[in-house]
Amino acid sequence: MGSTGRVGAGRGGAATDGSGRPDRRAGPPSWYTRGMIHHPDAPGPTKLLVSDFDGTMTRDDFYKLAAESLLPPGLPDYWGEYRDGRMTHFQALRAYFAAIRADEATVRRTVERMGLDPNLKEAVSRLRGDGWDVVVTSAGCEWYIRILLAEAGVDLTVWSNPGRFVAGEGLLMEPPTGSPFESPETGVDKAAVVRAALDRGLAVAFAGDGFPDAEAARLVPDGLRFARGDLAAVLRNEGRPFRPFDRWSQIAEMLAAR
Ligand SMILES: [Mg+2]
Repeated sequence: MGSTGRVGAGRGGAATDGSGRPDRRAGPPSWYTRGMIHHPDAPGPTKLLVSDFDGTMTRDDFYKLAAESLLPPGLPDYWGEYRDGRMTHFQALRAYFAAIRADEATVRRTVERMGLDPNLKEAVSRLRGDGWDVVVTSAGCEWYIRILLAEAGVDLTVWSNPGRFVAGEGLLMEPPTGSPFESPETGVDKAAVVRAALDRGLAVAFAGDGFPDAEAARLVPDGLRFARGDLAAVLRNEGRPFRPFDRWSQIAEMLAAR
């Protein structure tokens, strides 16, 4: 997974999937490979936790920290363009990330300040031991997700928007290609990831903290719906039950106690 975040013909030595489209992964993700689609008779995880990253596995969003410390003043109001329907969520986020003019060391220090759950590795191990596979779905950028997961020594399937940092050009985020879960709106269709797992008969849990998580969160059973922040507010308004959490590793404790 070392050179993830690089898509596009001829760049980064990306393999292709035979259709001419770049395949940014060495192979399908674990739950996809071991699931019923590819190996109907092979045993595999029967439970899947689909998790948001920013604000869910981490304390803070990369975007929020970038807006506070990395973005130059006087930028256009891209979120306003998004709210008015003139930009997609992906386009607005990409525009902000491309406006970063700090050097890479400064940007990486900002990534560190996101506050990844220090117990993530232990929690993932615990979940796996209990039969849960874990995948990350993020409308943010895979570039910083991979940095933090690698530092934590955690290898997870990540469905996100690839990207790379180029000094003077910013964090260059691209839409995923070759993914079965592409979304023109956010890049990654989190609800489609959940639906695909439900369709294969897996027990599916979802954890998130933001508005882009709402559709996916609605799909899972009440007892497997974990929320904080804006997502919790959305669900509360809808009268939809969920289990609150402060740190991601608490989800592992709650699922293990089921
Ligand atoms: Mg989030």
